[in-house]
Amino acid sequence: MEIYRLFIDGIWQDGVMGTRDIVSPSTEKAVARIPVAGLVDLGRCLAAAVRERDPWAKTDVSQRAAILRRTAEILARKIPHTVRQMVGEQGKTLSEASDELDRSLETFLWNARQAEELCKPVHIDELRTLLYDPVGVVAAFTPWNYPAVITARKLAPALAAGCTVILKAAEEAPAAAVAIIEALHEAGVPRGVVALVFGDPPMISTHLLGSPEVRMVTFTGSTRVGKELAVLAARNLQTCVLELGGHSPVLVFEDADISTTVRAICEYKFEYAGQSCNAPSRIFVQRSRYLDFARQLVGLAAEIRVGPGEDPDVQMGPMIGPQGPARMQRLTEDAVEKGACLALGGHPLERKGYFWPPTVLTDVPSAARIMSEEPFGPILAIAPFETLDQAIELANLSSYGLASYVFTLSEKTQRDVVERLSGGSVSINILKGVAPDVPITGTGDSGYGHEGGQEGFRAFQSLKLINRTGR
Ligand code: NAD
Repeated sequence: MEIYRLFIDGIWQDGVMGTRDIVSPSTEKAVARIPVAGLVDLGRCLAAAVRERDPWAKTDVSQRAAILRRTAEILARKIPHTVRQMVGEQGKTLSEASDELDRSLETFLWNARQAEELCKPVHIDELRTLLYDPVGVVAAFTPWNYPAVITARKLAPALAAGCTVILKAAEEAPAAAVAIIEALHEAGVPRGVVALVFGDPPMISTHLLGSPEVRMVTFTGSTRVGKELAVLAARNLQTCVLELGGHSPVLVFEDADISTTVRAICEYKFEYAGQSCNAPSRIFVQRSRYLDFARQLVGLAAEIRVGPGEDPDVQMGPMIGPQGPARMQRLTEDAVEKGACLALGGHPLERKGYFWPPTVLTDVPSAARIMSEEPFGPILAIAPFETLDQAIELANLSSYGLASYVFTLSEKTQRDVVERLSGGSVSINILKGVAPDVPITGTGDSGYGHEGGQEGFRAFQSLKLINRTGR
């Protein structure tokens, strides 16, 4: 049983509100205990973050970058232990957890490399200069699905830019955030510059955003919570970066290589049991290849080995909690009631844990809830389309606008689709696309602001324009 602590003003400590147990989604047994922060703890985080704001902002950027590089080195040594913790807490497979930790190291290193360039003044001409100052105290909220890489995508640029940060990490998956904060501490981040808390999320966000000293909120999670935070942030005009839900469409045109497409969709869709914000979830296939596509997809998805992530032969683990399989069941039943055909899966696995098997629904009508509600689980909904116009219309029907994918060999179709699909990214003949050097963003219910890349770094800076006279 892992016992975690809060990290406040450079000291690991208990929370004033007691503790809470974390249950493994594979066994439903307690695997870890987290502290619960109270108002006193948050007050101390805030006081330290405000106290350290100016000294950290004035610390030479090369020194801040060096700390990030050391953090990556220290974190690399922690990977084997952290992987086991993540697998136990979250139900990820061993390779999913270790790949994610590798990506978080790369994120620290990439931001360290960018820091000096992005903190330099920019001279517009001889008389005008732009300064890029840190925004100040940041409140960061991370979700449980990618607790290592999303934590890195927030902390690395924020700290490199010279901000102090209070991180409320996901209570469900504390290990990665704890490992990252330990690494930052060992790497020499001064006390008070970064804090880590767990507890009652609405209480923590209300308290932190209620302070005018906090100047920015960066949140990754559901649209519902993102909207609540935007309302809270409005009172003190705090800047928001909101990376929210998604319901990514895939358009498969008749000239696509069907077996490559099916393999790419299965690989990404069933990673971490479909609990990825930009996993494909609505698949539209041109009529002439529809049956072939559906047959191949069902065949490949049926081969996925489901079980506890600790087993190295397992390819897909459980969902994070009991609400996951319950949501899958509700969406499946609704789709079938409305005329969809259940081609694979569709029933919870009869074993301990929150397991839901790879599920494929075909001929799903637009009226089925799964076509508009983010499934956030291992279900694929497939429907045919006839023309490019119809495909674009179906894809753009969602209120979300995060990622979309298109499979076609025709350059003309690729150009048309890129121009007409809404959302934050379009990937052609490939799935995935999140990397340290590129920003992700959403439109509509998927949020706003940038995370990752130079734009994501700049999100933690405020601009100051300096005008001079010629004399
Ligand atoms: P959630 O919004 O309930 O929780 C996400 C995180 O926010 C957790 O750490 C939770 O403790 C915290 N949280 C919850 N209520 C809060 C509040 N009032 N104030 C502050 N923090 C609060 O979402 P979830 O269901 O746990 O996660 C899945 C959702 O996150 C999905 O909608 C998914 O698409 C989205 N997500 C988006 C991205 C992205 O980059 N766009 C990445 C991962 C997850």
